[in-house]
Amino acid sequence: MGSIMGAQILVQCGSPSLRVKPSSFSGKRICGRAFCSMNASGSISIVPDLLHYLNQSWTQFHATAEAKRELLSAGFHMLDEKQEWDLKPGGRYFFSRNMSCLVAFAVGEMYNVGDAFHVIAAHTDSPCLKLKPKTASCKSNYSMVNVQTYGAGLWHTWFDRDLSLAGRVILRTSHDSFLHQLVKIDRPILRIPTLAIHLDRTVNQDGFKPNLETHLLPVLSMKPAVTSLESKDKNSALSSKPPHHPLLMQILSDELNCDVDDIVNIELNVCDTQPSCLGGGNNEFIFSGRLDNLASSYCALRALIDSCESPADLASEHAIRMVALFDNEEVGSGSIQGAGAPTMFQAMRRIVGDLANNYVGEGTFERTIRQSFLVSADMAHGVHPNFMDKHEELHRPELQKGLVIKHNANQRYATSGITSFLFKEVGKIHNLPTQDFAVRNDMGCGSTIGPILSSGVGIRTVDCGIAQLSMHSIREICGKEDIDIAYKHFKAFYESFSSVDKMLTVDN
Ligand SMILES: [Zn+2]
Repeated sequence: MGSIMGAQILVQCGSPSLRVKPSSFSGKRICGRAFCSMNASGSISIVPDLLHYLNQSWTQFHATAEAKRELLSAGFHMLDEKQEWDLKPGGRYFFSRNMSCLVAFAVGEMYNVGDAFHVIAAHTDSPCLKLKPKTASCKSNYSMVNVQTYGAGLWHTWFDRDLSLAGRVILRTSHDSFLHQLVKIDRPILRIPTLAIHLDRTVNQDGFKPNLETHLLPVLSMKPAVTSLESKDKNSALSSKPPHHPLLMQILSDELNCDVDDIVNIELNVCDTQPSCLGGGNNEFIFSGRLDNLASSYCALRALIDSCESPADLASEHAIRMVALFDNEEVGSGSIQGAGAPTMFQAMRRIVGDLANNYVGEGTFERTIRQSFLVSADMAHGVHPNFMDKHEELHRPELQKGLVIKHNANQRYATSGITSFLFKEVGKIHNLPTQDFAVRNDMGCGSTIGPILSSGVGIRTVDCGIAQLSMHSIREICGKEDIDIAYKHFKAFYESFSSVDKMLTVDN
């Protein structure tokens, strides 16, 4: 796993070039992907590629950069939202925003202005600890790192793990220019230790209830001895105390191969260093962090790329096939890089306008939206063998049994009777199983970007996902088979939804 974990993607701000260290191509890989492997049923499996993607993607920034790299190597053209576009039928394009949100699309050769978009949307972020602006904290004889919680993590699972840091920095390259660069420290430099049972005798009876401000600080190191000079400095200039431990900045500068003083800003997540892997007696599971929602993101991305691998794949297509990956779902999507921003709506309007040579007749865009269809893909709760009563008896999704269609009468999910029927029909035609989920009436229900995009854009939407266990734990579990089923279902959606959609008319 060394070569996989050691790879690093460097992305320059304002430049379309991606610089990839040669180490990322070491080992048995073609274009960053593992050699194709077969699954139990003898068909091609994307699971090795997903594991590679997960191991590269410690943060939402890395998940986006890795997706960009896959799109570029598949021949997609990178667009800049700040420049004019020149799109053509048969063309394949993408753009990213904030290096944490990405929209990729392929235009059918038979596209006529007003034709539909077929979209799969997912999210790049996962619950984690993020560094506060000032991180240098000391307790007893330890150097600690100040963190803030992001999203609804199962925080007790972050204790006693071998942790590190990844994210992005801004580097000074000259007196008037800066570089945006991703960084990943590929060794365990942090740890949040639990308290020994002898000092917390009732923890197993009363539950482990850490205070998120005082108990969740990772230890970086033993505090270095203070020299008499530094001690004098400390007393005389408290206000100029550096925001981060010098050791932390040194580790970053070593990794980035730059001077400490060149690092002018940091935006880092605390990450688990344990690589994603197969597990279970028959290797039937995937054990990994961030399955929610990088598993969906990757299945959607690969489905789009593989659905238009050769020009012939788009020859008879009228629709525009699109993937939209958003940041900040775990905290409500209310940001410029989140699904709450008009990114997708603006992209669709812009694409329609560009393909119409900026002559968009009355109602053209509205027609487009009314014909379009969105698959909101996010992980689902599989039934837990030790907590069976948490699921309603008739709606207990199981691992390895196909995509879960999520229903909620109170619109926590955007699925309707029509959208679930059409999406299941795609599966049925390709012999792909689906399952239904509805939450118990005496329990709260999660939500997704489905209702946000459905109501914001006005697009028909189905909410679906891969069943998993341990959702929002630092280490989650899903079924290997389900990854390939989801990939195939998404690919089938792109390839056959234009014809499936013609089979049912609702509003006339
Ligand atoms: Zn999610």
